[in-house]
Amino acid sequence: MSDKLSIALAPGDGIGPEITRACLHIFEAAGVLDQVDFVEVEMGQKVFASGETRGMTDEAVELIEKTGILYKGPMGTPIGGGGKSINVTLRKTFGAFANLRHFQSLPGVETVFSRAGVPVDFYVVRENVEDTYGGIEHRLTPDSYVAKRLISTPGCDQICRFAFETAKNFGIDQVTCGHKANIMKMTDGTFLDRFRFLSEDYPDIETEDCIIDALCMNLVLRPDKYKMIVLTNLQGDIVSDLAAGLVGGLGFAPSANIGDQISIFEAVHGTAPDIAGQDLANPTSLLLSGVIMLRHIGLRKSAAIIENSLLYTLENGVHTGDVKGIGEAVGTKAFAAAIAENLGKTPETTEGCVVPANDVLCHTPPVRPSVNEMMVTNEQVESTVCGCDIFLHTTLTPLDLAARLQRICESTPFKLTVISNRGTQVWPTGSPYTELVNECCVRFELTEDLVIGQGPTIHLLAKVAEKFTVTDFVPIKMYDGERGYSLAQGQ
Ligand code: NAD
Repeated sequence: MSDKLSIALAPGDGIGPEITRACLHIFEAAGVLDQVDFVEVEMGQKVFASGETRGMTDEAVELIEKTGILYKGPMGTPIGGGGKSINVTLRKTFGAFANLRHFQSLPGVETVFSRAGVPVDFYVVRENVEDTYGGIEHRLTPDSYVAKRLISTPGCDQICRFAFETAKNFGIDQVTCGHKANIMKMTDGTFLDRFRFLSEDYPDIETEDCIIDALCMNLVLRPDKYKMIVLTNLQGDIVSDLAAGLVGGLGFAPSANIGDQISIFEAVHGTAPDIAGQDLANPTSLLLSGVIMLRHIGLRKSAAIIENSLLYTLENGVHTGDVKGIGEAVGTKAFAAAIAENLGKTPETTEGCVVPANDVLCHTPPVRPSVNEMMVTNEQVESTVCGCDIFLHTTLTPLDLAARLQRICESTPFKLTVISNRGTQVWPTGSPYTELVNECCVRFELTEDLVIGQGPTIHLLAKVAEKFTVTDFVPIKMYDGERGYSLAQGQ
């Protein structure tokens, strides 16, 4: 039996097959194929077209679960028909919770910062599963829509721990937490709290946090200030593409989606149908994702040699047509051939990678769990119900609405405390200048310090629902004496 490591390979659609071929050519020249078997699996447009809505065959799923590693080219998302992005499906299904991207100035690639002599070299760690990417959305009234933003303590712990561990392994001594905790005090507030809490385990790593809008400005002004940034999913998505722009575009940004058991390494750009099959595509993003993959499985020497050769090749003016830089553009095949030929050379104008003495293959294939893992962090925290928020479809004025609701709750343990519209308090005080939509939140709180379960809130909900159209309902709670709900703006 071969003692090579098997890796599932999905070349993808559009330019996918040609950039995959280019990367495999370089891997072969570097001796990687003596240690790794790439086994091709079927995924992408051809599989969607056959009616398989996941975009991948059962055989592909089986092999990924067996090997624990997928190396993939870009894949098209079918437009319309409810087809979901295969890329998002893959990350979520296989628990690849951390997206790791490296953004570095490359020699021979002209950018605003290369011209100004400002080096860019930082990592973005983005949470991959939670946040608005649950895609849980509802239309509450003819005019109002809501998307749920789910953030969990275990989810924050996983991604922050991953960032600190990766920083430690890569010798990075500074990690920045990007967030919007000044506005979203519970979701982003938890993310920031857990970042600070876990940072205590890493005294050698300097930590700081930055509000996301200021972070974006700082990144454009002084990208050289950052070494690693950890972010929640949507903010991380936006910052990642901003960062790609700083180093010359999506064609240069590698991406790794790492899970406890299964990891996916992919190019971040799409299938580029406009240039597919013309030998014009730039394989750098997929190659650098492959370099992260080689380091992930312990082939650090091969990874460093390939990365140095890429830097040397670009430095010498050999590049594809999408790159603004010195020298004449060459095709995908010629670019890959030049990198294969330059293996062993190191760049002169930029710091290359230190080449370790050996490759030490160290990947453990997944062990299939018999049940889904339940992650619990705050097991000991006690919660007590103290009221409820009921969301209503109504066009009544706040005063009229309050009068009717007060009558409804007269004989219950609750009193009406606040009415808010789009998060702004409009009763008991408010401004006539606040514009309203036909969906509002009415908050009921206990009149006395009673211990009740959720039953009485459901009973109240039923009474309100007899008179009003309810669009949503949330019991509000205290957690170990701390408020587990936000106040309305102006409250
Ligand atoms: P795209 O990234 O495919 O193309 C945008 C532009 O960048 C095009 O002009 C293209 O020619 C150019 N480009 C992209 N990669 C290049 C490369 N390696 N070398 C040279 N030029 C390159 O984005 P799009 O046109 O919005 O999307 C096309 C398809 O790709 C869609 O079906 C989309 O769903 C899919 N997509 C897939 C992924 C993925 O698999 N991870 C990511 C993004 C988009």
